[in-house]
Amino acid sequence: MQYIIDHIPRTTPCNRRPGLAMSPQYITIHSTGNPSSTARNERAWLTNSSNKVTASWHIVVDEKEAIEAIPLTEVAWHAGDGSGQGNRASIGIEICESGNRAKTLENAVKLVAKLLKERGWGIDRLRRHHDWSGKICPRILQPNNWAGWEQFKRDVQKELSGGGSVAQDKNQPSTWAKTAWEWGKQAKITDGTSPQGNVTREQVVTMLNNYHEYLMKVLQK
Ligand SMILES: [Zn+2]
Repeated sequence: MQYIIDHIPRTTPCNRRPGLAMSPQYITIHSTGNPSSTARNERAWLTNSSNKVTASWHIVVDEKEAIEAIPLTEVAWHAGDGSGQGNRASIGIEICESGNRAKTLENAVKLVAKLLKERGWGIDRLRRHHDWSGKICPRILQPNNWAGWEQFKRDVQKELSGGGSVAQDKNQPSTWAKTAWEWGKQAKITDGTSPQGNVTREQVVTMLNNYHEYLMKVLQK
């Protein structure tokens, strides 16, 4: 799944991006309430001139991608609780109701697990829009007394505990480290294994030694 950052401007009408600093404590789950809109449609709506409501969110996810519309360290208006914790201290995730529902939910589970993992959080940080304001949202997870919501949390937990691809990614460098990791392999500073493993002192010295040899070679050219 592709993750696109496409922030709405600070000048977006109706105060949709107030620019208030936020230190998030929760992740709030929504579904869009629109059976036909994609993530791109939802993002476009935020900056559509016929949109007159003060409502926004941080990330929208559909069957093929996730789009971040507001930085995760700024307030968005999605929880319906005024200046409560939902709006002021939670990251709002909109799940699209269009397209392949199973694939969309799988993407949402992976996205949410990644956000939790990056922050060292567990599923106790997850909230429904319903928890903040009583609204039936995310409505796609509401049938049978919120059975879908319980399943969603179990799926996120499974992903966090290493059943899913978040754990498999341990064999790959993180996105932010890919360039440096490839350089390290080419320069023969690392053997290219266990990118996210811990390092011992003898390995540090070996890598420094490898770097020294690499520099000598480069300087002789
Ligand atoms: Zn909602």
